[in-house]
Amino acid sequence: MTTLYLTHPACLEHESPPGHPERPDRLRAVWRVLDEARFGALERRKAKLADAASALLAHDERYCETLPKLIPPEGRTGHVDADTYLSAHSWPAILYAMGAAVEGVDCVMRGEMKNAFCATRPPGHHAERARAMGFCLFNHVAVAARKAQRVHGAERVAIVDFDVHHGNGTQDIFWKDKSVLYASSHQWPLYPGTGAASETGEHDNIVNLPLASGTGPQVFRAAFESVILPRVDAFEPDLILISAGFDAHRRDPLASLDLGEAEFGWVTRRLMEIAEQRCAGRIVSVLEGGYDLMGLSASAAAHVEALMEA
Ligand SMILES: [Zn+2]
Repeated sequence: MTTLYLTHPACLEHESPPGHPERPDRLRAVWRVLDEARFGALERRKAKLADAASALLAHDERYCETLPKLIPPEGRTGHVDADTYLSAHSWPAILYAMGAAVEGVDCVMRGEMKNAFCATRPPGHHAERARAMGFCLFNHVAVAARKAQRVHGAERVAIVDFDVHHGNGTQDIFWKDKSVLYASSHQWPLYPGTGAASETGEHDNIVNLPLASGTGPQVFRAAFESVILPRVDAFEPDLILISAGFDAHRRDPLASLDLGEAEFGWVTRRLMEIAEQRCAGRIVSVLEGGYDLMGLSASAAAHVEALMEA
């Protein structure tokens, strides 16, 4: 067994307002493709509920206390900002999503599995230390990075984020932390507006690769190869986390990059090569965005297919 596949049905219960792109069908689309026979070798597990206190590893105490109080009664929607919402059953969904990321780290750091993919929602990379935004409530990847450090003794963790939006939340949380490298490729300008190449963190531990609208496969690969991969390699990480958003796919309605699913397979394999050299192949990948169901399922399939080759 090489690849652990973590998910939980409770992640469907984070119910979106009508017409919202971050909807339960996204998760169903990923489940459907990963149920195909070619993924038979995945180690499939239901995520465990995370202890809500784990969020304190990446978030402000007051924010952690406030968020569950915003959960609305049955049938109502609670708005945290213009496009970030909570429904009656969002709290367990959030904690199962966090639990998946943490369990992925536990298994991979203990050497039980080579790598892991967490198919969960809501996503996390826009959630800052003290602020929910961009469909994100808690930053699961940031919590997972801290768990790897506190519980498993990882000294350096690299987080690579190929979601088409900049992960302002992850950047915010690790801005002053030289033990975490955050490297993001994203369309720019685009929501949330951060992620200029000049944003490099207090210890030069942030790497931003802004890409122009319409960027296609060749330019994407060349840019990733020259800007992000050498930095991840030179950082000598003990673990690589991936914020795996698939909204840079050309079918995606929220952005306008021109990537196909093959690029997600390619970038995964290149990160696996570095992980093999630097950290015994240890990779934990967490689903972020991806809003066209066909683009999302084809891209997640290409990503997981690559992970299974480890
Ligand atoms: Zn996104």
